[in-house]
Amino acid sequence: MLSLSMEKVIIVGSGCAGLTAAIYAARANLTPLVLEGPQPGGQLSTTTLVENYPGFPDGIEGPQLIMNMHQQAEKFGARFSYAEVEDFDVANKTIRIKADDEWIETQSLIVASGASARWLNLDDEQKLIGHGLTSCATCDGAFYKNVPVCVIGGGDSAAEESIFLTRFASKVYLIHRRDKLRASKIMADRVLANPKIEPIWNTVITKYITDEKGEMSAVRLRNVTTQEERDLPVACVFVAIGHDPNTKPFQGKLETDPEGYLLANRLVESKHPGVFIAGDVSDRVYKQAVTAAGTGCAAAIEAERYLSDLAS
Ligand code: NAP
Repeated sequence: MLSLSMEKVIIVGSGCAGLTAAIYAARANLTPLVLEGPQPGGQLSTTTLVENYPGFPDGIEGPQLIMNMHQQAEKFGARFSYAEVEDFDVANKTIRIKADDEWIETQSLIVASGASARWLNLDDEQKLIGHGLTSCATCDGAFYKNVPVCVIGGGDSAAEESIFLTRFASKVYLIHRRDKLRASKIMADRVLANPKIEPIWNTVITKYITDEKGEMSAVRLRNVTTQEERDLPVACVFVAIGHDPNTKPFQGKLETDPEGYLLANRLVESKHPGVFIAGDVSDRVYKQAVTAAGTGCAAAIEAERYLSDLAS
């Protein structure tokens, strides 16, 4: 349910940044309205064990961490709506957000809309999603028991997904365009020590190959050093090549860098008073759950200060 009256704080996004902002804003009695967006819980909701979030020496499952934050925010009075933001407008001190065809006015706004999985942009890619092509091992890994699969990428996500997939698949090929993983050392070491994971270095996918039912059956690989091509039979391709910031409603209205990340001054301030930015939507460097939570906290504190100044 969206409110028709003026909100004090609207938070766009319900990942780690948005939920931390919600906890802080709610504890400041601002009863924030969180617009959860198309992926409630953000990237953590589709991840496995999180081992580097402080306070959990044995790690915590990403969805559980998100659920805890959600409950914590709700306990202090945050309100949640599944609404998806379509447009944004700011004039003088009036900030408006259009969500689910309805404009809502707010005194302050925290944009924590996160980032979405990147794809390879190969032929028929969008049609193949759900037919042997996915960006989420935790969502789809269990469908691929005792068959070979591949993961694309060389970062922490690719490493984490490869390790997770070894629970189900007969073999996990890790296809990376270079000969060295970008992943953190601890994750890279685990990948390279896992007998079920076979890295294929200096290699890119040039084509998805399907069977007569339209399901993924193989990928065409090209070695970028030798230019040799070959087909590799796999039942599913897990794409883990990073993320792009979710900024569509804010394009042309908030400043972005050349890669589309929102630009913030003093960590979380946009160029518009009352509009703050938090989490991966503006972070092209760290992209960690704890840094997203940190900027979510900072954005809520700045929103609170802004609202106090408005009232005085
Ligand atoms: P990332 O670190 O940006 O890595 C993306 C990988 O995909 C890179 O290896 C990159 O290759 C490759 N790639 C990019 N575009 C490609 C393309 N078009 N074709 C083929 N390969 C392509 O992204 P990420 O792994 O999603 O991680 C994002 C952030 O989240 C990082 O800061 C990471 O540390 C963090 N994270 C942490 C954990 C954890 O701590 N457990 C888990 C997941 C993510 P190059 O190496 O050649 O650039």
